[in-house]
Amino acid sequence: MAGMLYLVPTPIGNLEDISLRCRKILEQADFIAAEDTRVTLKLLNHLDIKKPLVSYYEHNRIKSGQIILERILAGETCALVSDAGSPAISDPGEDLVRLCADQGVIVSAIPGPCAVITALSISGLPTSRFTFEGFLSTNKRSRQEHLQSLLKETRTMIFYEAPHKLPYTLQDLCKAFGSERKISLCRELTKVHEEVIRTTLSGALEYYKNVSPRGEYVLVVEGATPLMKEPELSLEEALIHVQKLIDQGFSRKDAVRQVAVETKFPKNKLYDAAIGKSESLDDQSGS
Ligand code: SAM
Repeated sequence: MAGMLYLVPTPIGNLEDISLRCRKILEQADFIAAEDTRVTLKLLNHLDIKKPLVSYYEHNRIKSGQIILERILAGETCALVSDAGSPAISDPGEDLVRLCADQGVIVSAIPGPCAVITALSISGLPTSRFTFEGFLSTNKRSRQEHLQSLLKETRTMIFYEAPHKLPYTLQDLCKAFGSERKISLCRELTKVHEEVIRTTLSGALEYYKNVSPRGEYVLVVEGATPLMKEPELSLEEALIHVQKLIDQGFSRKDAVRQVAVETKFPKNKLYDAAIGKSESLDDQSGS
């Protein structure tokens, strides 16, 4: 009979966040697949658990995934852990889950620490609908494409970010969403220096002019104000919305770009109308 795969979440800072059930699964599994065996060994030592470890990370996931699958099919039970938090969430695991599920292996996920949910809960921003965006790419083009795809996003958006990239990312978020968009910067969650800075994108940029970002961050960003009640806006309404975005801190160019995405009006014509060059855009909108 085949064994099974357990996804075991581990603390994102505070070791006391390991649950009784996670501990039990780690004790009972035949082996543990770990992102970094040295990190996991420290946790196992803390829990006084001795267990064979297999390395499973981004760059060996194909070869190691196959070995893990074969052991499970041969009847062993595997507990998968990442360095911190829930496996498969911006961490290795997604491929292993798919591989095992495709082979009919039972996969069970134990609920537990996860930075995205912890941050969302304390952000003070709407939690009923949200979207997890993971890390923005360091590649300029895919980063811009990612941000462009979020211009109309009305749900709360959650990003992971490394401290050294934070100022750069805040600038890009500000450019895309406008300086007055709310953001909660959730730092060092569950650790001694846990901190939540609830501000606006321009407020965050200003703050980090004088303070060096340190530790781990989750950025929770307010969604866009829903724009269209009707399927189409008139030019006058579109221009009112352009002005609203400018009042919220967008440059005229960015405000026009955002409204153009959401309406029938071409960007250059909307821009001309916004600076008063054209009063008759309604007639030209089809062109
Ligand atoms: N699988 C993990 C989870 O369930 O949250 C996420 C792993 S991802 C490689 C690491 C990122 O998660 C960090 O760069 C940071 O954005 C976020 N993160 C992890 N622990 C955190 C903490 N204690 N406080 C704030 N952010 C954290």
